[in-house]
Amino acid sequence: MTAVIDRLHPDRLFPADPAIRAVARRLYATVRDLPIISPHGHTDPQWFADNAPFPDPAALLLTPDHYVFRMLYSQGVSLEAFGVARVDGGETQRDARRIWRLFAEHYFLFRGTPSRMWFDWVLANVFELDVPLTPANADVAYDTIAAKLVQDDFRPRALFERFNIEALATTESPLDDLRHHQTIRNSGWRGRVITAYRPDPVVDPDTIGFRDNLQRFAQLAGEDALTWQGYLAAHRKRRAFFASMGATSTDHGHPTANTADLDDREAQELFNRVVHGEMRAGDAELFRGQMLTEMARMSLDDGLVLQIHPGACRNHNPMLFERFGANVGADIPTATNYVTALKPLLNRFGNDPKLSIIVFTLDETSYSRELAPLAGHYPAMKLGPAWWFHDSPEGMMRFREQTTETAGFYNTVGFNDDTRAFLSIPARHDVARRIDCAFLARLVSEHRLPEDEAMQVAADLAYTLPKRAYKL
Ligand SMILES: [Zn+2]
Repeated sequence: MTAVIDRLHPDRLFPADPAIRAVARRLYATVRDLPIISPHGHTDPQWFADNAPFPDPAALLLTPDHYVFRMLYSQGVSLEAFGVARVDGGETQRDARRIWRLFAEHYFLFRGTPSRMWFDWVLANVFELDVPLTPANADVAYDTIAAKLVQDDFRPRALFERFNIEALATTESPLDDLRHHQTIRNSGWRGRVITAYRPDPVVDPDTIGFRDNLQRFAQLAGEDALTWQGYLAAHRKRRAFFASMGATSTDHGHPTANTADLDDREAQELFNRVVHGEMRAGDAELFRGQMLTEMARMSLDDGLVLQIHPGACRNHNPMLFERFGANVGADIPTATNYVTALKPLLNRFGNDPKLSIIVFTLDETSYSRELAPLAGHYPAMKLGPAWWFHDSPEGMMRFREQTTETAGFYNTVGFNDDTRAFLSIPARHDVARRIDCAFLARLVSEHRLPEDEAMQVAADLAYTLPKRAYKL
């Protein structure tokens, strides 16, 4: 299996100043080929279980990617025209070539965005196409990609190996039976694809079908999840099952970072109100917050790393939600508090170095004011990398500039691609490596850090820290 050959400009994302750029080049050369650790993301484990060829260029690269179609939508292109499935099964575009052409016609919209960088990388380095994509070369690109996707070298496992991925985590709900992970494990394939425990559907009382979810949770765990003690026992059992399928982490996508530390009687009363239909205003939020503390308690027993991904106002556009459901590019960042929100959890467990809580944000104003000071103090807390809307060259640079002064490099955990777009994973990690090298090159050039130490940091950020933080 040949490695990926980079056909794009070798100095992309490096500083324009030639002296600093020369340092960045030297640093990057030492981390460019390190294996990829992808400890958090949303690829489909069925790809690696079945190892079937990917269907067509649009179904692989466009219609599942809300980063892509939210931009077209903002310019008046309907999601139906882009082939996004409707909840009611109504008419949408099914002709993959027409979707591809529509995308090519609108590719100029992505100028200056990270999506453009990732997409150019995939076209150039996976499919060996000339970039950029234009309406004029759209058909050639489509035919080239379609012809490659039927080759064995372009099946999911072959690409996983070509991309030099050492470990890849997917994310599943406790209601998932993990059959695809089981298939992967039984197959004898050596690629390391693991799951992560994302219990939002049975932790968030605002989830549609929450009570039905608890019934199914009870069945799967063999515990009476409609009582507080049974519910906690069900979590412990499902977490153990997930860990047996390779999980090293849990993940929590809450609207806020609020935590709570109720005593057992209060928690039980809250649970009864939430589950048996007498919820008061604030109960759902309080319950989610209490559950973060319960999850931390369980993490101390079973060792799973706890990730908190707060601050997205989900499904901001009710019309789109009604028509297409969740994850269609209508999630919007909100201002997020951490200092008081995390205090109950940190009061209880923040001083324990055996616990690992990785906190993310969609609110960049919290980096230097709240998150770096918290992570630069509490042994249990680490900072997740620039995330989602901030997963961009500028976002990554802002993250380093605003957190390093207080948290240093070693209270951060390297890069997460957090993506559904499998083919873009190497591109995303490459952007992170280049930006970290650019940041370090500046420190070297300003004589704040010797180059040999910067080299060590670059390798730690690219490889050692994610491995250590996620116990991979
Ligand atoms: Zn995620």
